[in-house]
Amino acid sequence: MNFEPGTRPDADTFATAAETLRGTLRGEALREGDDGYDAARAVWNAMIDRRPALIVRARGVADVIDAVNFARAHALPVSIRGGGHNVAGHAVCDGGLMIDLSLMRAVHVDPVARRARVEGGATWGDLDRESQVHGLATPGGLISDTGIAGLTLAGGIGWLRSRHGLCIDNLVSADLVTADGKLVSASAGSNQDLYWALRGGGGNFGVVVGFEFALHAVGPTVMFAAPIYPLSAGPGPIRFWRDFLADKNGDVGSLVEFSTIPESEDFPEEYWGQRCYTIAALYAGDAGEGERLLQPLRDQGDLVTDFSGQMQYCEVQQMFDTMMPFGQYRCYWKSHYLAGLSDALIDLCLANAAEAPSDNTLSSLWNFGGATAAVAADATALGDRSMPWMYSIDSVWSEAADDEANIGWTRKVWEQTRQYSQEGRLYLNFAGFGEEGEALVKDAYGKTYARLAAIKAGYDPGNMFRFNQNIRPAA
Ligand SMILES: Cc1cc2nc3c(=O)[nH]c(=O)nc-3n(C[C@H](O)[C@H](O)[C@H](O)COP(=O)(O)OP(=O)(O)OC[C@H]3O[C@@H](n4cnc5c(N)ncnc54)[C@H](O)[C@@H]3O)c2cc1C
Repeated sequence: MNFEPGTRPDADTFATAAETLRGTLRGEALREGDDGYDAARAVWNAMIDRRPALIVRARGVADVIDAVNFARAHALPVSIRGGGHNVAGHAVCDGGLMIDLSLMRAVHVDPVARRARVEGGATWGDLDRESQVHGLATPGGLISDTGIAGLTLAGGIGWLRSRHGLCIDNLVSADLVTADGKLVSASAGSNQDLYWALRGGGGNFGVVVGFEFALHAVGPTVMFAAPIYPLSAGPGPIRFWRDFLADKNGDVGSLVEFSTIPESEDFPEEYWGQRCYTIAALYAGDAGEGERLLQPLRDQGDLVTDFSGQMQYCEVQQMFDTMMPFGQYRCYWKSHYLAGLSDALIDLCLANAAEAPSDNTLSSLWNFGGATAAVAADATALGDRSMPWMYSIDSVWSEAADDEANIGWTRKVWEQTRQYSQEGRLYLNFAGFGEEGEALVKDAYGKTYARLAAIKAGYDPGNMFRFNQNIRPAA
């Protein structure tokens, strides 16, 4: 029963095969019409509405192996769902097989070895909660229900990047099920090519069922700065922030986040509905020292309010969760790695923030340097680490009628600021819907693309795993 992706065999034949698979699984196999099918295909971005021919909700490695073998036998392409946060909706596909790992979220921490073993469907909230029991953490995303898998495999940019690097820099090993249905381990000691490719190459190489991360002493109390300036404060505080960080990129993970003050009692009423920016910064060392060090970021003019303070690391990791609820908003995000942050670009970012069509839209400037920049260009598939900043344009809105205005605005801003990018590179987790296809992926990887394509050809020659920032298998 072979058929091309996107078409179906006759319904009875497919139903029989799916029923047989269902009998072997510890988890679930769901088809359209089954209870739970619609909930399982829902992802974070409310714009995404795709219907897989089959969804396997795996409960263990054996389920994943059976699902991959089923997909191969029936020529079904596979999408992989970790946390379901991918804005392009890559976790879910039309007509293929979706492997959903959200029932596989176990975390095991070894505090002596300072290692965490994490199942492929876990979220950053899961990992932070368990590792912080021991006062440990690994660099992770800024929102607690983002999946560790999708975030890590494309690089992974979090608050701890300054001192401990990107998520991939802390990935010690990974276990994955490849397109031939085999369980493979990748680390510095085994399958080194795959280990290199997984650190930046996204979900192209198989279903990662287990991640092993290095942990570091973090908190539990840390210093987090979050003064909020009205947009009318102009560029001064942002220029100060840029210059202030020049000798602190090894200790401070920071971003300037442009947003709109919500109608909430947490904010003074006179500012409701006004555009603003937050200078957010985490000091990755002693909290008292961090409080003294970060104080100047809070002293650059009149504030709307100030959420700064010493707090639990897990609180920081959940601080922005309410701005980013699962499945509620329509979203389109795009980014540039920047070659520099000139005054002219800061002015442009301010003007863009003022003009965003939606009050839910965010845009942000992120610092790099420190431990992130210390990794050699050829050490991971992410490639060169010399980008000093990132600009991310994160459009968020509610109504389908506003899709065109918001997507159009995001693309306009992205094109307009492209001249400031570092050789056209961008973060593939903030890459729109990948409309530019292979060209975008090639630009993003630059010199590493050819090596990635060769490794892809070895592990997934038929491109079973294609719902991602796709690396085409080399001929
Ligand atoms: C609210 C929000 C906040 C974010 N914050 C950050 C941030 O702070 N830092 C940052 O770097 N990024 C951030 N991102 C971007 C995020 O990293 C990507 O959206 C990422 O794809 C999410 O991973 P996921 O597992 O939740 O995604 P999913 O949608 O489940 O998966 C996305 C893709 O990742 C791959 N994948 C997922 N699981 C596996 C697996 N187990 N094995 C192999 N491949 C897999 C697949 O290709 C899949 O299509 C954020 C996104 C959102 C929506």
